[in-house]
Amino acid sequence: MHIHPDARSVVRALAPDEPVILNRPHAAARAARFFVETFPGRSLYAVKANPSPDLLRVLWDSGITHYDVASIAEVRLVRGVLPEAVLCFMHPVKAAGAIREAYFEHGVRTFSLDTSEELEKIVAATRGADGTRAPDLQLCVRLRVSSDYSELSLASKFGCDLTEAPGLLQESRQYADWLGVCFHVGSQAMTPFAYVQALERTRAAIAEASVVIDMIDVGGGFPSVYPGMQPPPLEDYFAIIHRQFEALPIAYNAELWCEPGRALCAEYSSLIVRVEKRRGDELYINDGAYGALFDAAHIGWKFPVRALEDDLIKPLQDFAFYGPTCDDADYMAGPFALPSDIQAGDYIEIGMLGAYGAAMKTDFNGFGSSPAVLVEDEPMASLYDGSLRREVRDNVVSLR
Ligand SMILES: *Cc1c(COP(=O)(O)O)cnc(C)c1O
Repeated sequence: MHIHPDARSVVRALAPDEPVILNRPHAAARAARFFVETFPGRSLYAVKANPSPDLLRVLWDSGITHYDVASIAEVRLVRGVLPEAVLCFMHPVKAAGAIREAYFEHGVRTFSLDTSEELEKIVAATRGADGTRAPDLQLCVRLRVSSDYSELSLASKFGCDLTEAPGLLQESRQYADWLGVCFHVGSQAMTPFAYVQALERTRAAIAEASVVIDMIDVGGGFPSVYPGMQPPPLEDYFAIIHRQFEALPIAYNAELWCEPGRALCAEYSSLIVRVEKRRGDELYINDGAYGALFDAAHIGWKFPVRALEDDLIKPLQDFAFYGPTCDDADYMAGPFALPSDIQAGDYIEIGMLGAYGAAMKTDFNGFGSSPAVLVEDEPMASLYDGSLRREVRDNVVSLR
């Protein structure tokens, strides 16, 4: 595939009528290497954040060997792209047929659960033709933990609470060759303390159950950088998680896992859109709520923007966006700061859309198509280029 230097050269070369996804494999590779080298345990990739086969190969080549999959379609996809990858089926509510296919056809051994019913389902679906029980199940009991420190809650849907957890751990231990505890603190956790409260809960559940625990999975939730959301360095998260993990009453050789989605792929993609119409401070663009900007529309997520025209000279002004479909809900309030002389026909780059951006696109109303190209420049923001750590260091220097 042809590689372009940056978004401006893509606009010059293609003058695209449709939105264009810009992928930066070097940014995803850098994020993956950072987790592989710095997280004090194993890092899985949560595939739902962006299931693109190209991205999966970049992560694999950068040392990510384990993948958190949530549906049988994701199991088949990752198995097809990465035949040697270890797949972990971490959705606590699965169809029996999906469990059976994952176990017998795709070599999946790790399954999560948050009820006795799901445990029975997993045990039944993995029995051999002669009725023998699967001897090699790796089970993870999903705990419900607080999402109070995250921008996007995952606290109400999945996970057993502290009254149920000890019993479920004891019950699962009887069927598991290897038993873990997992949780998810919510996406974009803005402070490492999110993991402290979750690991306190984990400690209480394990102490009460008094069973041998082989693995602790602290889930996803590791943040990326967006306008108005500048997280502390990931090293701070890793240090606190490691300290809490070391103090848990678990097997001496217990493993520590994490399963980031956003933090591994947010920097991978940005998007070029074109302004099709301007109405005051509202810009009608050709992607939106049913495309890669789902989160911008539905939960008011802020993404960085920049105009890609050389002839825009006026100071920045705040704009809202309308997407291309005929639905009033196809609206992104922003605000997005762009030159005040922007007009129909001008192109904009919207950054940090590698996670939960490209993955959310639909074909609603005929507006789904977006070619993808590779670019070489830096993402609009990065957790991994040293800039955050440099700021911290600069502060220290200036204090002296
Ligand atoms: C979505 C999800 C993740 C990834 O979450 P991020 O906030 O993107 O890091 C990890 N684990 C599970 C079980 C998930 O559902």
